[in-house]
Amino acid sequence: MMNMNFKRKLPIPMETKEMYPVTREMEEAVERCLTELKAIFSGKSDKMALIIGPCSADNEDSVIDYITRLIPVQEKVRDKILIVPRIYTNKPRTTGDGYKGLVHQPNPTGEPDLFKGIIATRELHMRAVKETGFACADEMLYPENHKYLDDLLGYVAVGARSVEDQQHRLTASAIECPVGMKNPTSGDLSVMMNAILAAQHQHDFIYRGWEGRSGGNPYAHAILRGYVDNTGASFPNYHYETLVHLADLFAKREVRNPAVIVDCNHANSGKNPFEQPRIMKEVLHSCRLNPELRRLVKGFMVESYIEDGNQPLDGGVYGKSITDACLGWEKSERLILDMADAL
Ligand code: PEP
Ligand code: MN
Repeated sequence: MMNMNFKRKLPIPMETKEMYPVTREMEEAVERCLTELKAIFSGKSDKMALIIGPCSADNEDSVIDYITRLIPVQEKVRDKILIVPRIYTNKPRTTGDGYKGLVHQPNPTGEPDLFKGIIATRELHMRAVKETGFACADEMLYPENHKYLDDLLGYVAVGARSVEDQQHRLTASAIECPVGMKNPTSGDLSVMMNAILAAQHQHDFIYRGWEGRSGGNPYAHAILRGYVDNTGASFPNYHYETLVHLADLFAKREVRNPAVIVDCNHANSGKNPFEQPRIMKEVLHSCRLNPELRRLVKGFMVESYIEDGNQPLDGGVYGKSITDACLGWEKSERLILDMADAL
């Protein structure tokens, strides 16, 4: 017997998609972003990807406001950078406590409501595609929820706390868009490499009550996010030596499209978001020194929002993160223009 109150049966992804269908224009917008992103990960294009946006998508209006600000910047840097905005609708929590994201709490200070959360998540990703033309990135925290969004996403990340999990790896092997496998919080790069290999292969497994066979994802790649030691202190893993080591790990394994995205926040910045521009500059410098690294590094992940820093859940400041501290808008715009100049 389970110790759980089963409150209600939720609509399946197909029903949700019938209620909230994508239009032809939206389908084409997602397809355009996906084609460009795949060209970056396969090496057909030498542009870089920039996955940028708030740690958590806590408020529909400020997230759409933020992504709308990216449009003219994307236009300016179009020949060098493809922007993929972050709309992170579910948050892993270290102890299980705290804000678990839009999917749990469509109102961050309200009670959990997962029915409304699933709808709110789909509506937010739909609004982004429709109003801004960007296909966005989300974290796949709950693999069974991926199908509620699979027609809208441009990029999926498997987080540091999920990357060793079999269901995440198998589901990633069934996803069409590029999936980034983060290094685990311990920093063990072999866990990340195993996740990439698993995701690139085909598998038979159970997904949402179906027995199925995945196609394998040739765009599964690495994300370096720094790590913590057994005292909880943060350490970076974006320096030149780590990137060279990662290139060696790729060379030793049969991985298609070897690629890494450097996450400039989290343990790489010691959660100081203002370090992100410096970290990006250092990695771009490493790429200039070593053409092999320039081929391996396909872009960056940056935590950015309208306001600098973060605030408590009930802080009430518009456009300010209620999870990890972010780089504010002016500094973020500068970072994107500087990145383009350095490429
Ligand atoms: C994030 O990207 O906000 C995140 C939770 O990352 P990680 O899994 O690296 O902690
Ligand atoms: Mn974060």
